[in-house]
Formats: sequence, C-alpha cells, structure tokens
Amino acid sequence: MAADPVRFIDLQAQYARVGDAIEQRVLKVLRGGQYILGPEVAELESKLAQFTGARHCVSCASGTDALQIALMARGVGPGDAVFVPTFTFVATAEVVSLVGATPIFVDIDHSSFNLNPDALENAIQAVLANDAASHVLPRMRMRLRPRGVIPVDLFGQPADYARINTIAAKHGLFVIEDAAQSFGATSAGDRAGKLAQVACASFFPAKSLGCAGDGGALFTDDDAQAELFRSVRVHGQGSERYENVRLGLTGRLDSLQAAVLLAKFDIFIDELAARDRIAARYSQTISARGLGLTTPRIAAGLTSAWAQYSILARDSMHRAACQESLKSAGVPSMIYYPKPLHLQTVFSALGYRAGDFPAAEDCAARIFSLPMHAYLDAFTQDRVVAALV
Ligand SMILES: *Cc1c(COP(=O)(O)O)cnc(C)c1O
Repeated sequence: MAADPVRFIDLQAQYARVGDAIEQRVLKVLRGGQYILGPEVAELESKLAQFTGARHCVSCASGTDALQIALMARGVGPGDAVFVPTFTFVATAEVVSLVGATPIFVDIDHSSFNLNPDALENAIQAVLANDAASHVLPRMRMRLRPRGVIPVDLFGQPADYARINTIAAKHGLFVIEDAAQSFGATSAGDRAGKLAQVACASFFPAKSLGCAGDGGALFTDDDAQAELFRSVRVHGQGSERYENVRLGLTGRLDSLQAAVLLAKFDIFIDELAARDRIAARYSQTISARGLGLTTPRIAAGLTSAWAQYSILARDSMHRAACQESLKSAGVPSMIYYPKPLHLQTVFSALGYRAGDFPAAEDCAARIFSLPMHAYLDAFTQDRVVAALV
C-alpha cells in the first residue's frame, strides 16, 4: 500500500490543534457585528507590536498592501529609484512600479539568498552617477533619484541589516524590511519587524503566522509614519472620517482575520521552535546522505522563521531528478523562485538580460524547497530525505 501523500504545509494539523479557539473567536466577531476595525484588530496590533518590540503595529489587508502603504506614506513616485533584490516574490518590486517609481534590481548573496550589501552600494553609486559601469542598471535609461531599499528576509532569514542600514543611512535612503517570510525570526536578539525603520509582514496562510485569507501589517517606531500608515490604509483619511487629505487604499485587515490570528498567535512561539528543530534535523539528515545538496546557511546571530526550507542541487538536472524522485514517493516540492525578477516579462521594459545577476540566476536554476511546517514528524521527514537522490 502506498504511503499517504505528504503535505507541503499542513494547515489541517494546525487547525486540529487550535481550531476550537479559532472558531470561538470567529463566532464572537460574527455575532458582535464589528466586522471592520473591530476590537480584535486593536488587540492584535497591540500584541504584535509588543512581540516585535516595535512601538507601532498597523495591520492591513495583505503583505503587498503593507509594502505599498509604506511607499505611499513616503511619497515615493516617478523618478525615484528603489533598490530591491532580484531573487524574491514579485510583490517586493511590483509595489515600486505600482507607485510609479523604478525598481533597481540588486544581486543576492549566494549563501543567504538575501540582498548582497556590496552589490547594493555599487547599485546606489551607479544610479547617483547614472553610469552602469559598476552595476547593471535598467537599460531604459533616465536620471533617477535614489530613495530607498527594500531588503527581503527570504525563506525566513533576516537580511544583513547591520550593513544595509549603514549603507542606506550614508546615502539618506529609507529602508523597508520585507518581513513577509520572516515574521518571528531574530537578528542579534531583535525580532523581524524591528530591523529597519519600517517593516512589512504578511499573514497569507502559508507564511510563518498565517490567517484564513489575506492579511498583513506594518511595524515602525516612528509615530508620524504610523499615523500616515493608518491614514493611507483608509483612503487617505484625515483627522475627520470623511476628510480625505491624501490618496489611500481600502487596506484594512478584517476583524475576522484578526480573530484567527489572535488564536494562532497563542501557539506561534511554540511553532517557531518546532520549525527550527525540524530544519536542523533536515540539515543533519540531508548532509549525512552525501548527495551534494547544499543545505541552508543561517548566519551567526540570526534565527530563521523557516517560511521555506530551501536547498540547492548541484545543477538543474540534479534538481529535476530530486523533484521527480520526491514526486514518485508522494512528496511535494516547490521551486521558489524559478525566474529572478529582472527576467520576468512584467519588468521587460526595464531591459534587463540573462547574465545580469549571476548569483540570483544560479540559485534560480538549482534551488528547491521541501515540505516545512511545525507538524512535520520525524517519520515523514525521513521519508522526504530518503526520496532525495
Ligand atoms: C508573500 C510575500 C509578499 C506579499 O504578501 P501577500 O500577503 O501575499 O500580499 C511580499 N514579499 C514576499 C517576500 C513574500 O513572500
């Protein structure tokens, strides 16, 4: 008899644990009738602010909205350059284009998959000089003003904020942490959400802390920024309800989603610890097989939220062989991300080409992710590892 298929992320196992609490909280919202910005939203914001150590948490409708709200609050627009890693989910760069600014793609550090700070410095210099000699710039050239950086904490590991914040400060640029995959991670004891001036989290169901739909949040210590986020979140509302002082969005988090998050937040620390144990066991058992697979490297002083457990095959043929073998064993695997953003059709007007960012392109050709969630037992994990070739 074939073994049951393995789940890539096991939301059902999590629901078996906290479903009662979720249902109680959700019923209370349904019966209470405060579906928009009800008391659950304020309760969640205060708990998450306390958890990250940030002064303010402003919840919103998605991680993408959080990033867009952060850019709108800064007045980012046409003529502005915003530096983003090319190896990330599309939303990181999409929001830059949505507000009319230009994403400047930057290569990643091969061992962390995160923004390479040396490449960032070169990219800023290149934009300032409007000279692509030291860093590949969009080939559709116009003079741009460097405004900010959006580092991404890919797969759950924080980017190198010590260096990125220093480089940004030297050039007067803002830093927005894309913490969509790293909520719960730490850097030198500080939580993701507290690692840059502004941080954006996502509560999409597959993220480290997920709701039952779309959700997100912004974090900052800056009172004025937090007030702007709250305004942009609701149609650029002023101090009075129907006074509109700027453009905004319908960007609120539903009370129902806040209720789900509050119930799940009670087990979040425990789940983070479980993910960390499971990741360590993966790395140990995969290395022991000696297949030439590169397991994740978490830099000293950092912890990961393990949104994904991603490994590098020797080459794309090796990856294909692993994925095929996993599939026949009933084990799902995913490729995050098969194509770096500089090569995506949506950004083709910028004129980037294959070969522009070698580290990102190499990772895209070799990377794949294994099932990862807090309820992955040792037996199932061994099944996954045994299917690697
Ligand atoms: C998921 C994700 C986002 C967007 O979050 P949504 O809640 O899906 O809008 C942004 N950036 C990264 C790196 C992500 O993984």
